[in-house]
Amino acid sequence: MRHLAIIGSGPAGYYTAEAAQKAFGDDVHIDIIDRLPVPYGLIRFGVAPDHQSIKNVSRRYEKVALTDNVRFAGNVSVGDDISVAELQELYDAVILATGAPNDRTLDIPGSDLDGVIGSAAFVGWYNGHPDFAELNPPLDGKNVVVVGNGNVALDVARILAKTETEFAGSDIVGHALEALKASGVEKITLLGRRGPHQIAMTPKELGELGQLERACPRIDPHDLPDEGDDAMLEPGMRKSVTHLRAFAAIPEEYRADKSVEIDFDFFAMPVEVQGTGKVEAVVIEETELDADMRSKGTGNRATIPCDMLISCIGYRTPPIEGVPYEHGRGRFASDEGRIMPGLYCVGWARRGPTGTIGTNRPDGYAIADLIAEDIGEGAGKQGREGLDALLEARGTDLVTFRDWKNIEQAEIGRARDGSPREKFVDVGDMIKARG
Ligand code: NAP
Repeated sequence: MRHLAIIGSGPAGYYTAEAAQKAFGDDVHIDIIDRLPVPYGLIRFGVAPDHQSIKNVSRRYEKVALTDNVRFAGNVSVGDDISVAELQELYDAVILATGAPNDRTLDIPGSDLDGVIGSAAFVGWYNGHPDFAELNPPLDGKNVVVVGNGNVALDVARILAKTETEFAGSDIVGHALEALKASGVEKITLLGRRGPHQIAMTPKELGELGQLERACPRIDPHDLPDEGDDAMLEPGMRKSVTHLRAFAAIPEEYRADKSVEIDFDFFAMPVEVQGTGKVEAVVIEETELDADMRSKGTGNRATIPCDMLISCIGYRTPPIEGVPYEHGRGRFASDEGRIMPGLYCVGWARRGPTGTIGTNRPDGYAIADLIAEDIGEGAGKQGREGLDALLEARGTDLVTFRDWKNIEQAEIGRARDGSPREKFVDVGDMIKARG
């Protein structure tokens, strides 16, 4: 029997479990460990609450979770309840599928002022992550600046712009819905340090910005390159740029009854956050592209009002003591996922925060191949019996998948009309709800 411990129950974790089941059949026991009592990581806490169809992939993970040789071990924190070294003693393979939950920080003067928030925190807040339930973002001001031109920046802008009606059918948590209903936001500025041809926004997500009830995108046509240049772009990117061109062509009459503007400010990077005690303005510097298509400042600066700044500039995997780590890139150091025989990383923890949820599937299968090469038939380790004994001795209250199903039922039961669930945002409440 082979014993595998996967740390993290998001997409990378479940695809790895699925791949290991395929590779080893009945000759494997897999424990999927998560520090929270609820599974699915990024699907629950990262994917936008108004993108329910993307969240449906969790049904596939549930199939894996409900098989006999897979167990969910929630409410177990690697680092606090058990160390990676201890897991390596107990399991033939330990796989770090811990994602990249920490924000890359915007290291500019003033970025520590109140009202400067990273996307991990803001997204976690509206998605009910227990770590960010108390964030209380300042939504009373008129001007929000969102830094970054990726899909997370789009999610953040869209969530800020939507009306209550537009959240129908979503699972945005109650505290966020109430706060957004009372929001005073009138202008959302998306700062891109490069141009329209360098955005990292995908067409479907970008198109949604043009369909909002009370909000309308604005793009200065002068920022757009010659239309003929779009032919050089790959098809997905070309579609995205087509949306930008359509936004630039929106007539003023259409804007008249829109109360929120989403302003794309290209070739602009933030260089300083200003304010007394809290953010009040952002100094931006105009940029141009160098020969390598990187942005460089031109020295031309302007100051824009800002009541809240949300930086959506990427994420980092938190290091774990004793595990080799690439500090520059914010991910574990590995050779294609093999940190050393018996210890692996997968998903964002391996490659950094890029790609779609589906990208984690081939990642999981590739890691299962490496594990198969390294561990043979298994080394007669204790696996979950050993884990349970250690956790019991330490008083850790392990939450099982059956417990999660009870928590899930309770969340479904308390949902507002039309919403699939009202998430618990407090770990204690989750544990109480397991029955
Ligand atoms: P991303 O796609 O890497 O975008 C990050 C953005 O931040 C880029 O525009 C980047 O500009 C900019 N940036 C980085 N450092 C900056 C700085 N110091 N100052 C100003 N701008 C800076 O990352 P993401 O938006 O966090 O998304 C992460 C991954 O999740 C992506 O693969 C994304 O597609 C995926 N995702 C998908 C969906 C969806 O499919 N619905 C939703 C959310 C996220 P440069 O290009 O100039 O570096």
